[in-house]
Amino acid sequence: MPSPMINVFQPSLGEEELAAVGEVFASCWIGRGPRVDAFESGFAEHIGVPRNQVTSMNSCTEATFLAMELLGVGPGDEVVLPTVTFVGTANAVASRGARPVFCDVDPRTLNAGVADVRSRLTARTKAVLLLHYGGHPGEIARIADLCRERGIGLIEDAANAQASSVEGRACGTFGDIGVWSFDHGKIAVAVDGAIMYTKDPELAARAAKLAYLGMEQATGYGEAMRTHTRWWDFEVSSFSRRSIMNDVLAAIGVVQLGKLKGFVARRREITARYDENLRGVAGLVPRPVLPAGHESSYYLYWVQMDAGIRDVVARDLYDRGIYTTFRYPLLHKVKAYGGDAHLPSAERAAAATLCLPLHQALGPDEVDFVSAALAEAVTSRTAAIA
Ligand SMILES: *Cc1c(COP(=O)(O)O)cnc(C)c1O
Repeated sequence: MPSPMINVFQPSLGEEELAAVGEVFASCWIGRGPRVDAFESGFAEHIGVPRNQVTSMNSCTEATFLAMELLGVGPGDEVVLPTVTFVGTANAVASRGARPVFCDVDPRTLNAGVADVRSRLTARTKAVLLLHYGGHPGEIARIADLCRERGIGLIEDAANAQASSVEGRACGTFGDIGVWSFDHGKIAVAVDGAIMYTKDPELAARAAKLAYLGMEQATGYGEAMRTHTRWWDFEVSSFSRRSIMNDVLAAIGVVQLGKLKGFVARRREITARYDENLRGVAGLVPRPVLPAGHESSYYLYWVQMDAGIRDVVARDLYDRGIYTTFRYPLLHKVKAYGGDAHLPSAERAAAATLCLPLHQALGPDEVDFVSAALAEAVTSRTAAIA
């Protein structure tokens, strides 16, 4: 049997998640119910915000689309976002008839800095949509200040940052809206699903309503009995899609939330081992260090090398059974969004950066194997072009 590939991302799911799903099956209530409620309140507690400012959704992409609507982004508006970002965030902007305006990123951290964001603001800027690259918070606090000063919205795509913080404050809670993904490729997973945080509790109530077809709460049986009304009646004053989570997925999410701290601790160890193994390898630039007070979720481990060898090094590793990748391909270069923008740091970084395998199940031997294979590939390919 050929030995399996070492994955870049991999979920850690087991008996506890299976048992939780089994309980949902046995309850005969698989739709939105007590597990969704527990998932929302569990995450609210995790990020340290009131329960009523948190709503779950069926995906982070959907949450980002809804965020645009909640902030009133519309035709003629501009939304500034880093070119190194998830494609769904730009799609969310475009879906409103607004224009995504891409900014450059720091060449080492791949996060948009406050100067990158500021340089792209115009009178038409309605909002800034920021990613925490690899789980590193970046200059989020200063960017939040800038947005507040200018009176523009701030949305944090905190999909990489399930447990990231600055001075104890959770990433995703600096702006007006924060969204977290729990899809198959994240740290804690719910198979699919997302959380949206809104600073304004009224906006959270609107988010919850829009996430379920715009339906206003039906009265419920007890209330209907008291008021002699029908429990199946409802009101609709704005229309929308169906974007809610369900108890099957939320049951998995609740178990995973309980393990999140442990997952991140394991990822920190792996990160430290890569750091140690790769220190001093000629031709390899190690990951940037975190500033004091910043906590990362360690979602990505990335290294940088001469752009002339990056692709061939990736292929060398693949040939030895190791997947690598680059997140996130530049959006100002794709057909739908391409223009004549030149974003030099992002372009340099995108050509030089490689993300290595990083997940909870990676053992020390595998980390050492990946490190040695990478060092070997970089050394031999560097010699070949010298
Ligand atoms: C995964 C991811 C998303 C999308 O999440 P879904 O729940 O799959 O829609 C958005 N942004 C980033 C940065 C991601 O990594």
